[in-house]
Amino acid sequence: MSTMKEQPIEQLDMKRSSYHLIIDGERRESVSGETFTTVNPATGEEIARVSKGTIEDAELAVEAARQAFDHGKWRHFPVNKRSRILNKIAGIMRARFNELVELEILDTGKSLAAAQGQVMQAIEDFEFYAGAVVSHRGSVNAMPGAFQNHTEHEPIGVCAQIIPWNYPLMMAAWKVAPAIAVGCSIIVKPASLTPLTAIVLGEICLEAGVPAGVVNIVPGSGQDVGNYLVEHKKVNKVAFTGSTPVGRKIMEKASSTLKRVTLELGGKSPSLVFADADLEAAVDGSLFGIFYNSGQSCEARSRIYVQDNIYDDFMRMFIEKTRKLKLGNPFLKETHVGAIINEDQLNVIDGFVQSAVREGATVETGGQKAVVSGYENGYWYEPTILTNVTQDMEAVKEEIFGPVVTVMKFKDEKEAVRLANDSEYGLGSAIWTKDHARATRVSKQIEAGIVMVNCPFSAFPGTPFGGYKQSGFGRELCVETLDLYCETKSIVAYYGSKPLNPLGI
Ligand code: NAD
Repeated sequence: MSTMKEQPIEQLDMKRSSYHLIIDGERRESVSGETFTTVNPATGEEIARVSKGTIEDAELAVEAARQAFDHGKWRHFPVNKRSRILNKIAGIMRARFNELVELEILDTGKSLAAAQGQVMQAIEDFEFYAGAVVSHRGSVNAMPGAFQNHTEHEPIGVCAQIIPWNYPLMMAAWKVAPAIAVGCSIIVKPASLTPLTAIVLGEICLEAGVPAGVVNIVPGSGQDVGNYLVEHKKVNKVAFTGSTPVGRKIMEKASSTLKRVTLELGGKSPSLVFADADLEAAVDGSLFGIFYNSGQSCEARSRIYVQDNIYDDFMRMFIEKTRKLKLGNPFLKETHVGAIINEDQLNVIDGFVQSAVREGATVETGGQKAVVSGYENGYWYEPTILTNVTQDMEAVKEEIFGPVVTVMKFKDEKEAVRLANDSEYGLGSAIWTKDHARATRVSKQIEAGIVMVNCPFSAFPGTPFGGYKQSGFGRELCVETLDLYCETKSIVAYYGSKPLNPLGI
């Protein structure tokens, strides 16, 4: 095994030709010496080689994290000191904002605006948890007579954090920040398609003063590294964001060691547009709701339901604006829709569209792979609107994870709620109406973790994010997330003047 201690962590060029694992405070090649390449989805060009973690590396990372947790000082630092270091991480990220944005665009093919927003949110997540952890308190509970009870939060231990490719840095921040804020040690397994910014985040954590072994980053395959971490006896918790089928497997495997589990899974989020909505706002919000991040969003509003008496007006405006969306150079401000992550995903998206068409759906616009001038070797899909669809079509039921939306009509509020809830998923949802009472009534009936009322955005630092039903459980991005990285200890004490003798002997 070759360690790379000679290369200082500070201020490494973010955009470089090779990236390595981070284990026990060192940049390391993998034990096997294997590497894999990452590709820019917009161009199909290779960006860099990345050390490929295997089970041996995962084991080293677990040992390092265990050692740091059981015998290290991080969890024993005064909370203000951990908070300061989180702010320092955010400060370094702010100072290197443009580099992070550039790297994220290269690794994912996403548009400049999307990458900028996500990198900024990742920074703000660290700032949020730096503040939130300071007031993360236990409770004092009512007790009879001379008894007293209070609770304390203790960090849960070593956490495996498995993240997807659609928001690589932001998903890493959602997990890393709360876990280290409370004093846990972590092993992050980024998606193999997009490992670069998570690796850089690990380097920044070290630069900011997080002690060796607290933050370990092990890119590698899910079957191999991910699975090993999920089953490992010395890992106390697994926090997973990814698809529902993999989430189910993880829950099953984690049960053998009774690991704590949080699952942020897939979605098929509905958007309900009522006749009294501000139509322009509903159209613009729906456009963002599905085509942002090229539709590769867990909370993409991929099923739109429009009240029948405004359906024609909505569709006219929605189709017109969809046709104006620009695909192309992700680095340009005027590009709205970036690339699709890889060829497999491109084919999955097209498969859903073609199967819907075979079942009778109408393609209002889009409907095929896009050829983008200057980016012919990249992976692109036309923003697509499907109508004449039914609830039982795969395109309406399944998560497509691409720029494809289905639109149907509803008659009244009751039918809108029924259609919205007719899904195995329950992550996001949107309601467009000027009637506040209706918005309140409908939001109470929607089976989803997030309801956006006249609002295109779903996630701000501090707002709980997570799903109902098959979209998983546990909430990220909020104060409550800190609880999910802690055990609660209840301390029951007696301060009476007479000693207790419960058995009377
Ligand atoms: P995925 O489930 O294929 O992979 C996610 C991660 O799990 C990757 O790092 C992968 O390597 C790893 N993995 C795969 N098999 C594994 C196994 N057997 N054991 C352990 N780890 C394993 O998902 P993806 O394609 O990377 O991401 C897209 C999915 O993520 C979509 O379904 C999307 O909705 C979901 N997502 C959800 C949220 C949310 O907050 N709910 C946010 C972003 C993405």
